[in-house]
Amino acid sequence: EIKNVNENYFGAYSSFGIHREMISDKVRMDAYRGAILNNPSLMNGATVLDVGCGTGILSLFAAQAGASRVIAVEASDKMAAVATQIAKDNGMLWVAGPSRHNEQCTGVVNVVQGMVEELDKSIQIQPHSVDVLLSEWMGYCLLYESMLSSVLFARDQWLKPGGAILPDTATIFVAGFGRGCTSIPFWENVYGFDMSCIGKEVFEDATQLPIVDVVDSCDIVTDAVVLQNFDLATMKPDEMDFTSSFELEPKSESPVNHSRDTKSKTSCCYGVVLWFETGFTSRFCKEMPVVLSTSPHTPKTHWSQTIFTFREPIVMASGKPNADDLAAIGTDACPASRIHSRISIARAVQHRSIDISLETTAI
Ligand code: SAH
Repeated sequence: EIKNVNENYFGAYSSFGIHREMISDKVRMDAYRGAILNNPSLMNGATVLDVGCGTGILSLFAAQAGASRVIAVEASDKMAAVATQIAKDNGMLWVAGPSRHNEQCTGVVNVVQGMVEELDKSIQIQPHSVDVLLSEWMGYCLLYESMLSSVLFARDQWLKPGGAILPDTATIFVAGFGRGCTSIPFWENVYGFDMSCIGKEVFEDATQLPIVDVVDSCDIVTDAVVLQNFDLATMKPDEMDFTSSFELEPKSESPVNHSRDTKSKTSCCYGVVLWFETGFTSRFCKEMPVVLSTSPHTPKTHWSQTIFTFREPIVMASGKPNADDLAAIGTDACPASRIHSRISIARAVQHRSIDISLETTAI
């Protein structure tokens, strides 16, 4: 079954659309490109391993930044062939042996087809000899798809002691969201018709399964807190499964009221939204550290955010619930001053998916 799951997974990555989506994500591209090109003391003359090179774009940046050798590993045979062609077309392909003297093959990018877990000495590098491990492994909610374990495997096998990993930190954040982020308002008024029966059904479904979608920052009704921090240079694979408790409080008042309707400020929490940031910190990116953020408060990315809807909304004490909120929760609902929650995230054993459980109490 694992074989089938992998076939589906790498099959998906052989469609060009997914690569176009990633390459069109300017926030993602600027972060990686900035970290690679603006840290010459790290990249100049380095041996780089790009885990899951796709089109090879990050390897090409690394070559541009002056790396002396870039091993670009890609499991999908179609993408490995395409990455080879692209490196060649841009004069960046490295080829071992006599063809090294061929003028077309004078580059530093060595594309290797296969799972990074199955790399062997045929790539002519020694274990623990890589200076920089580069990868874009993040999935929805950071951990969906579980490619991180491949990156950690490559780190332990090939990275030099003290070598760099880009990015080197990852943080998952959580915050509460209001009614505007649910499907309810959308279906209430469709060209003047009431379609709220659909909204209710979609809302019910959302309490069962998380939704990946873009959340508007004005629909966030609590302060954000850190759910979990990962140090990619040192973490162990089993740290990918974790349980974390947190408390959410109504959003601190800002001088400017950003909510859409200033008269009836939303103070009711309908669920929580998760997002992540990865850091290319000054530990390795000394000249120019970079943060790649997928927060609802910064420009959107192809990861959007991940939305978990409560079975019942919670009134937050500090604000005055508006009429719509009260209709949904009943006027006798007791306002909470905080929300206490616990989230567990664990890799599903035989799948690339993750199991998430969320328990919430109003205090
Ligand atoms: N680095 C590219 C592509 C990122 S998508 C970019 O930034 O645009 C991740 C890629 O990693 C996919 O092409 C996928 O096929 C590949 N991949 C995932 N797990 C892998 C593994 N264990 N070994 C090799 N390649 C892998």
